[in-house]
Amino acid sequence: MAGATDTESGGAAQGVAGTVIVGAGLGGIRVAEGLRSNGYQAPVTLIGVEPHPPYDRPPLSKSVLVGKDDRVDLKPAEFYGESTIDLRLGRRVVAIDPEQHTVTVVAVDSPDDVHETIRYDTAVLATGLRPRLLPGVADDLAGLHVVRTIDDALTLRSELAAASTAVVIGAGFIGCEVAATLTGHDIAVTLVEPAPTPLAAALGTEIGALVGRLLSDNGVTVATGVGVTEVVDDGTRVTGVRLDDGRELQADLVVVGIGSVPVTEYLEGSGVELAPREAGGGIACDGHGLTSAADVYALGDVASWRDDDGVQRRVEHWNHTVDQAAVVAHRIAGGDPMTANVPYFWSDQFGLKIQMLGDPRPTDTVHIVDDDGRKFLAYYSRDGILTGVIGAGKVGAVMKTRPKLQAPTPIAELL
Ligand SMILES: Cc1cc2nc3c(=O)[nH]c(=O)nc-3n(C[C@H](O)[C@H](O)[C@H](O)COP(=O)(O)OP(=O)(O)OC[C@H]3O[C@@H](n4cnc5c(N)ncnc54)[C@H](O)[C@@H]3O)c2cc1C
Repeated sequence: MAGATDTESGGAAQGVAGTVIVGAGLGGIRVAEGLRSNGYQAPVTLIGVEPHPPYDRPPLSKSVLVGKDDRVDLKPAEFYGESTIDLRLGRRVVAIDPEQHTVTVVAVDSPDDVHETIRYDTAVLATGLRPRLLPGVADDLAGLHVVRTIDDALTLRSELAAASTAVVIGAGFIGCEVAATLTGHDIAVTLVEPAPTPLAAALGTEIGALVGRLLSDNGVTVATGVGVTEVVDDGTRVTGVRLDDGRELQADLVVVGIGSVPVTEYLEGSGVELAPREAGGGIACDGHGLTSAADVYALGDVASWRDDDGVQRRVEHWNHTVDQAAVVAHRIAGGDPMTANVPYFWSDQFGLKIQMLGDPRPTDTVHIVDDDGRKFLAYYSRDGILTGVIGAGKVGAVMKTRPKLQAPTPIAELL
């Protein structure tokens, strides 16, 4: 049974509406699955604006771009019927009314803009991010790319064979991975980043420099401390970029990886509170995903949960979303609140798995304990206590640290 619905011309629909999940990505599907595995019997409706069933994003900058994978669906097609999850694709939620307990939905390809109202008992918001674009640059310029959706990745992939030069703007995780993947396609890649090293904001400059070394040693030209002032084109497609030090770089492809912004515009006027911009923005939640509106939860990249220190924090990592989905599903299905795991993320570059466990800040003290010029292992500490571990090609050593991050551990024990 689906959530109770009505078209806009009629009144509010009646009946038990169950849980309506907005956003059919990783967080959305994990909540839907978690509800069923926790014994939740009411209707579950999963609404997604993309035409594709929920798929995995990490492979987009890795195996999909390389050409190893075309489909990275998170569930087989039969899962939705077997689990009685009403999957509605190609539908954009444009509004939520917490008083009435309804969401308003439009079909993206509908010529007559018919609005549908769906009632919920509980709503879950998992609408993720959209890539930040360069100000003043037309986003439909041929040869200019971002990588957030599978369609983005397949479009970029289709242009790799004809390209010999590329500029990647922004050395965050996605920028670094795309630079690595394109280099593997025999494309001469320049990675442009205003910060002093790649990944400086996420990992600090000391570890960022080790990642920069990995990229340079494998053929990426890493241009740090410099910004892009202009994307140059010939009227039909990109031809290069101009830098703020006066240089102009030729490029058949330009990939923009300058971060993303939470997708929250459908909340305007709803009263659902957002986190302050200085805290990363996104939907403000308590420590277990409840927003400022009754019966409305949020999770994943779009959500800013309050941490144990009372600080709103938004995290853009796969495992974090999975952990939050488990907490939210458990909470809706009636269980006790669960506590999240130790934060974890990974990145794949040039055949090395870079992994981080814990929640260090870039200002924490870094202790590099192993570095053979390619693989490395480092700990982070604050006030003498271990806050994180990062390794490249050090899977066992990183994972062994997990128990030490679950309780306060003096860094001296590890050095
Ligand atoms: C290229 C790439 C590589 C990555 N690699 C890694 C990695 O190596 N390691 C790691 O830890 N993490 C990685 N991540 C991050 C990870 O994929 C995300 O943390 C995760 O996908 C977050 O899940 P989510 O459900 O919050 O958002 P998403 O997966 O983005 O899902 C949100 C969904 O909501 C839909 N939506 C948005 N607005 C609406 C609306 N109004 N109505 C209906 N639907 C809507 C969107 O279309 C989207 O499908 C990567 C991300 C990308 C893009």
